[in-house]
Amino acid sequence: MTDTRPAPRSDFSDRLRHPVPHLFVYAFAIVPAIALVAAVPLAWGWGLTWLDAGLALGLYVVSMLGVTVGFHRYFTHGSFTANRPLRIALAVAGSLAVQGPVRHWVADHRRHHAYADAEGDPHSPWRYGTSPAALVRGFWHAHMGWIFDRSLTDQRRFAPDLLADPDIDRVHRGFTVLTILSVFGPGVVGGLVTWSWWGAFTAFFWAGLVRVAVSHHVAWSTNSICHLVGERPYRARDRSTNVWLLAVPSMGESWHNLHHADPTSARHGVGRGEIDISAGTIRLFEKLGWAWNVRWPTEKRLAKLAARPDEPAAA
Ligand SMILES: [Zn+2]
Ligand SMILES: [Zn+2]
Repeated sequence: MTDTRPAPRSDFSDRLRHPVPHLFVYAFAIVPAIALVAAVPLAWGWGLTWLDAGLALGLYVVSMLGVTVGFHRYFTHGSFTANRPLRIALAVAGSLAVQGPVRHWVADHRRHHAYADAEGDPHSPWRYGTSPAALVRGFWHAHMGWIFDRSLTDQRRFAPDLLADPDIDRVHRGFTVLTILSVFGPGVVGGLVTWSWWGAFTAFFWAGLVRVAVSHHVAWSTNSICHLVGERPYRARDRSTNVWLLAVPSMGESWHNLHHADPTSARHGVGRGEIDISAGTIRLFEKLGWAWNVRWPTEKRLAKLAARPDEPAAA
């Protein structure tokens, strides 16, 4: 890499993550992943009830949009203005994805943009170099290894706006409760609907554990795959890419090269056929009058950001 500036100490909080929540980081990253691996052979014998599938899909969509529309496009990048109920709802919905409390998520992600693919980026796959072995290590680090780092991004530096917001403070502090609801809530619903322990268990397994694991890996792929392989039609200072294969499950976040070229844009999938469910959701909020000042991309701006053929992509 050309840029090897060390991350300034001031980027980090002066305290490490407490060992107890840190243990939960391990638990919530690893247990759902084990469930996901177990799910495939188990599904043969069990089948999957419509209730389990409906709960899993519903929670997947709500929590993913909470992250992509809420945590990412709204809270991190300010790509639109939201009314108070929508602001709170987005913070709650994003928390249900179990990717960390809202202020941690936003602070880490703003740091990612500040140092994208350079020293100081919390999750660059290029961290260890460009050899095949370094990239395998880098992929693991960018995908999920980085979340096991106990040092915390300084919220005073990277998320002062959210620190000053009492509504968001309440949602941030409620993260543990929201996590319990998100993981165990489906089991309660499944148990009550089927009036059986087995129904409670399968709903917990599919809509709690497996759903969280799938959404984790899709979200983490934006950090790993979308900085590693794919197309770079826009000029960004980093190695971000567009990966069409992940467009639908990631709710449009895998048009990641455009996102790094134009971080405040409310739409990431700007080309023909580039499906962006998050942008569609923001459009709906705008139509309902809940969101305004939406930063929609313009033809002129996109033309300016397009990579020119004579120009090598960011090294
Ligand atoms: Zn990125
Ligand atoms: Zn971003």
